[in-house]
Amino acid sequence: MNVMKRFLLSVLLLLGAGPLSPVLAVELDLAGHATQGGLMLGRVTPGATVSLDGKMVHVEPDGAFIIGFGRDHGPTARLDVTEADATRREMVTVTPRTWDIQRIEGLPPAKVNPDISVQPRIAAEAVRMQAVRRNDRAGADFTQAFRWPAEGRVSGVFGSQRILNGEARQPHYGLDMAGAIGTPVLAAGAGVVTLADPDLYFTGGTLAIDHGHGLVSIYAHLSRLDVKVGQRVAAGDAVGAIGATGRATGPHLHWSLSWFDERLDPALVVPPRAAAAKP
Ligand SMILES: [Zn+2]
Repeated sequence: MNVMKRFLLSVLLLLGAGPLSPVLAVELDLAGHATQGGLMLGRVTPGATVSLDGKMVHVEPDGAFIIGFGRDHGPTARLDVTEADATRREMVTVTPRTWDIQRIEGLPPAKVNPDISVQPRIAAEAVRMQAVRRNDRAGADFTQAFRWPAEGRVSGVFGSQRILNGEARQPHYGLDMAGAIGTPVLAAGAGVVTLADPDLYFTGGTLAIDHGHGLVSIYAHLSRLDVKVGQRVAAGDAVGAIGATGRATGPHLHWSLSWFDERLDPALVVPPRAAAAKP
């Protein structure tokens, strides 16, 4: 074996194995729920870049980042962390879940199959909501603890396949909490209010709180809004009150969470709490 071949072999051996290999020396801490609807909080060395399935992920200057897996995410996700000239690849196993089927009867027919005259309004509101969800705000409010946004029993869980007045509709991308009209609604986490509208067609009185890096919580069917767009809130701050505005059969809070277009399960970011019987 000549000197060059011997040199190349030793380089390959160095790269290939052992805790001292440069690839494994690339730092990565990852915590949270590697499951459908789950959110994970990560940390890398400041300056490192992160991509998820080939798409760049926003990383704070201190190395904090988040990733989320939607309701129908596949069984694996590829996470690449690049630091200087070394890339560490982790295949994350995303645990599948099963979903309830939820039948809701007695909704006003106009709210299940809205009249053609309402379509422009619905489309315009959908565009607004999408912009709110896709906002990539700097700042790592998402590293702070989340809490339940209201007292009251859980009356609807994330991910259920919905049958509205007998017709299959999109899954339930939120968590419902029953409560009397006027029950305080609290910010689930720290962030900035990016939407405060008293009257959206489906969600009625609606608030959005941006927790940074595309993580957004939304509070719907509110009877009252206590905050304005641009206002900074801490977890637990009163932001509004439970109502039955928009498409709702009774007073409840519809609470949702998303990471850009990925819809996440809010129940996975707060301490466990027993779900009561379905309505
Ligand atoms: Zn709901």
